[in-house]
Amino acid sequence: MKRKPSNFYLLYNKDLKNYEVEENILDNFLKKYDNENITDFHFEPHEEKVDVKARYCGDLITLETMGVYEYEVVLNKLLINCGYDIVKDFENIDGSFNFQNVNYRASFVRSSEGISCVLRKLRNINDIKVFMEPLILSNVEKLIDQKSKMLIFSGPTGSGKTTTMQYIVNKFKRKRKVHSIENPIEYINPGIIQIVSKIEEDKADILKYILRQDPDLIVVGEIREENFAKLLFESSITGHLVFSTLHAKNVFLVLQRLKMFGIEVRNLSESLDLILNQRLIPRNCPFCQGNGCQHCYNTGKKGFITVFEGLIISKNLKKDFSQGKSINFISEKYKNSDRYIDPLPVLRKFFNEGLISEDQYSNNLSSF
Ligand SMILES: [Zn+2]
Repeated sequence: MKRKPSNFYLLYNKDLKNYEVEENILDNFLKKYDNENITDFHFEPHEEKVDVKARYCGDLITLETMGVYEYEVVLNKLLINCGYDIVKDFENIDGSFNFQNVNYRASFVRSSEGISCVLRKLRNINDIKVFMEPLILSNVEKLIDQKSKMLIFSGPTGSGKTTTMQYIVNKFKRKRKVHSIENPIEYINPGIIQIVSKIEEDKADILKYILRQDPDLIVVGEIREENFAKLLFESSITGHLVFSTLHAKNVFLVLQRLKMFGIEVRNLSESLDLILNQRLIPRNCPFCQGNGCQHCYNTGKKGFITVFEGLIISKNLKKDFSQGKSINFISEKYKNSDRYIDPLPVLRKFFNEGLISEDQYSNNLSSF
């Protein structure tokens, strides 16, 4: 008898032969595709089959096709793992579970052809290494013991700015009270207080409560909205160290965006000493030099490399900025100074060493 996945409910306590064997389908699947470069699994149900895909080094790749019944067993196991007992009238839900020391976040959405599920790996920040040049790291270190400062990690979507921010937090969190407001949590960072704010509007309230908890460092994901941006800068100038991320192409456009949020130039000048911008570039697979092979699911990629741009905000720059000089003027004046950390020589070096492809090189060259 064909089961209709759209009328899905838990199979547990039902008379199922071979359930012991079937129960292992999910475990075996996760073991089979245990690869550090796979970040998500996608189960896409259709009438007769389920397409199973994965996000590998940023590319969506097809792993296999699963039978509808097999998938139903997988879904059951996932829901039980996430702590759901009986789901009769299925609604869109999410949850999380741990398997072999990996945390997974599962999200389920009912589609016209069944329940679509995505599993995202929630990694521990201790397993992440971001290589940063000594000049950048020494400037971050200068900031970390100060108060009334703000450090902005910027870049386009998917440039790894949150990863770098959490990596820095992890590196310096010892002996510091750290609160972070996140949506969603992307890394498990033991020893810091991670707070989820599901709604953008809640962030301001959460921030007010955090300020009463004697924080040394406040970490906030993505500044998106004017009022919150202002509040964040006020918290910074009243004596707190704040880290946040911002969507921007380059370090000078960060200044532009913050100005457009209506933050007072005086506050910006006072608290901003360093802006980082970055790109996350897929690294050529060392087994096939980017041509595609069994080690890299034929994508030619294996892991990522980070390229940083940095702007150390000098007294002169603060003065120009306070006097209302245009971003163009500031960019022209400071781009050739020793206060600017140019990403392009590093990018060129990675290309010359064969670490990144020609396409990645030229795309990123023009992206700053
Ligand atoms: Zn390969």
